[in-house]
Amino acid sequence: MYDANHLIRKLAANGPRDKVFATRPGAADMTYGALFEGAERMAAALVAAGLNPGDRVAVQVEKSLEAVQLYLGTVMAGGVFLPLNTAYTGPEVAYFIGDATPRVVVCDPSSQAEVAALAADAVVMTLGPDGEGTLPVAARRESRFGAVARGPDDLAAILYTSGTTGRSKGAMLSHANLASNSETLCQVWGFTERDVLIHALPIFHTHGLFVATNVALLAGASVHFLPRFDADAIIAAMPEATALMGVPTFYTRLLDHPGLTQERTQAMRLFVSGSAPLLVETHERWEAATGHRILERYGMTETNMNTSNPLDGERRAGTVGRPLPGVELRVMRDGTEVSQGEIGVIEVRGPNVFQGYWQMPEKTAEELRPDGWFITGDQGMVDADGYVTIVGREKDMVITGGFNVYPKEVESVIDALPGVRESAVIGVPHPDLGEAVVAVVVPDGGIDEADIQAALASGLARFKQPKRVIMVDELPRNTMGKVQKKALREGHASLFS
Ligand code: AMP
Repeated sequence: MYDANHLIRKLAANGPRDKVFATRPGAADMTYGALFEGAERMAAALVAAGLNPGDRVAVQVEKSLEAVQLYLGTVMAGGVFLPLNTAYTGPEVAYFIGDATPRVVVCDPSSQAEVAALAADAVVMTLGPDGEGTLPVAARRESRFGAVARGPDDLAAILYTSGTTGRSKGAMLSHANLASNSETLCQVWGFTERDVLIHALPIFHTHGLFVATNVALLAGASVHFLPRFDADAIIAAMPEATALMGVPTFYTRLLDHPGLTQERTQAMRLFVSGSAPLLVETHERWEAATGHRILERYGMTETNMNTSNPLDGERRAGTVGRPLPGVELRVMRDGTEVSQGEIGVIEVRGPNVFQGYWQMPEKTAEELRPDGWFITGDQGMVDADGYVTIVGREKDMVITGGFNVYPKEVESVIDALPGVRESAVIGVPHPDLGEAVVAVVVPDGGIDEADIQAALASGLARFKQPKRVIMVDELPRNTMGKVQKKALREGHASLFS
């Protein structure tokens, strides 16, 4: 009965009704039948609230299986799912609502009054972390729902980019963008109905919502559904699970857990990392502790996943693997493709690439070429075997005294020093050089600025050597584990003035 809805038809195809879709600590299991029946009722409730095909449903709620049903129900009703980071505050939410003009806004019961004031033109409904609220009440009153016809090119979701420069942009993702990428990942990562995926990622971001949830559904697999990252709960779940998808901080935190052993991870077949660079050191420590090599992949909100290390074959630490089947990747500089091994800006093309930015035709034209190539803004290179290495964001590149410095190169040298846990290299204004290279370092022992400067003196060209090394207890990161370089640049902007 989902036949005419491109994405839902695929997501619902492989989980038999009585198969368990999700287990969760302290709450009842949920079968595929219950998952989709609940999604149908939510779809019916959204339509009753006035949702028409193509309308946006903005959602800022805590992670729950009912929130997954809301995602599926929105797509089933022909709507466009628009998840918002739970950390966004009132003024930020006001921007998204003003920009996306959703027909329905679903928020936590605790913020209903505030959201209602921001979204005067929308129907505001609530959904709490316990799965209760005005939306589930309305959904229970509805009967089941047949799914609105939607084709491959219709929009299924808008995800706002984190907006490190300027305003956040809404990346429009079609049914085919999501379905094709999940199908590819299912196949290259070997997901089947026998898999049990530990799902501890947030579901307002492409990683937890599309990579983890869609892949599990497509495979007819089960998920062990955790509301958030919890090292104890993940370690406890491992003997009954087969796969984990995480950001690098998941892995560093699990490595600090005394329960992480070879024996604990024996039943697991796959550990995937992405959304931020995985340190080579973390890769190696993980293998030493568990016997497993982490599989690192690379993607982004606008493109879903682009590259992956292989399931079978060499998983090369420090690289994000090769382009996925059906995805083309090239490295460009000054309008031409660079030679193999040279650094430039990564562009990708394929069925995964988004439809453009919501109501921002100029931004879309700047980043998405008419022939389908998307300019990612990530700088990287491809080696002789086709493995891609990301060296940083284009806007994070430091230009000092006319020389280009790629932060990743300097970070890798610093990270390899004994006594260093991790580092972030930034450029800050400098009266003479334009920008100066500055390293922000988390020590792991008694190392100080002078030690690091001395150790780098012989290993790096002079212009790449940091003018200052600042020691900190930890690097600022967002929920997806990305180091907030903008915050670091702002915090140290007056270092040389
Ligand atoms: P987002 O749109 O929030 O998913 O962020 C996408 C960005 O995260 C990419 O453009 C990259 O800069 C970065 N990213 C994602 N995966 C990786 C990875 N495996 N290694 C390095 N950077 C990554």
